[in-house]
Amino acid sequence: LNGLMGMLRLARGRMRDPAGLEQLDKAAIAATHLATIINDVLDVSKIEAAQLQLEAIEFFLPPVVDTAFSMNTARAAAKGVSLRSELAPGLAGQAFIGDPLRLGQILINLVTNAVKFTEQGTVTVRVCPLAQDEARATLRFEVIDTGIGIPRDQQERLFSAFEQADSSMTRKYGGTGLGLAICKRLVELMGGRIGLDSEVGYGCTVWFELTLPTAVT
Ligand code: ADP
Repeated sequence: LNGLMGMLRLARGRMRDPAGLEQLDKAAIAATHLATIINDVLDVSKIEAAQLQLEAIEFFLPPVVDTAFSMNTARAAAKGVSLRSELAPGLAGQAFIGDPLRLGQILINLVTNAVKFTEQGTVTVRVCPLAQDEARATLRFEVIDTGIGIPRDQQERLFSAFEQADSSMTRKYGGTGLGLAICKRLVELMGGRIGLDSEVGYGCTVWFELTLPTAVT
């Protein structure tokens, strides 16, 4: 698939015909979508086979949150949805030990969903400490949107693989139903917990809580 995407990029550079350019762009979008699905399926299998190793390296929160936003800036701007990050005082300059890539993957999934299911308003990523001592901090992450919300009776099963709110969702919004399942498994691998609060028509807040060792810089 990477070879295919590379060739599409090269072919695009040589293409002069506008209709041909449009076709190559559509092929590239389809290839990217397929790559996302394959990566999601591989991640679920890896986690299930207990093969996924988490890193324990030093990192700061702001770049992790910024990456989740940057993947969604264009989509949010196209709908007029604003993206806001609210880090509690002191968190931006605090170094943590953990797996920033996997933490980023959780936030990317949640922010992507929030933008996808919000037609107007704001998507906010809020991080605040619940408890802290010299060695570690328990953080609560919240991805808050002002979108369509999720009926109460469907909320619990969305964290299982391949589950979506209802089948009309697949037709309207696409997706595989793997995002929240991956988030739940990653959060649990990190020793945390995840959940959501939502009311139909009033948006959705997906939250997770993690205890991370802190580092002195
Ligand atoms: P996907 O987005 O690929 O369908 P997910 O596991 O990420 O898979 O989400 C599963 C389902 O949960 C979505 O199809 C949607 O029905 C619902 N959902 C997730 N996040 C939101 C949200 N922020 N607002 C409304 N519905 C959501």
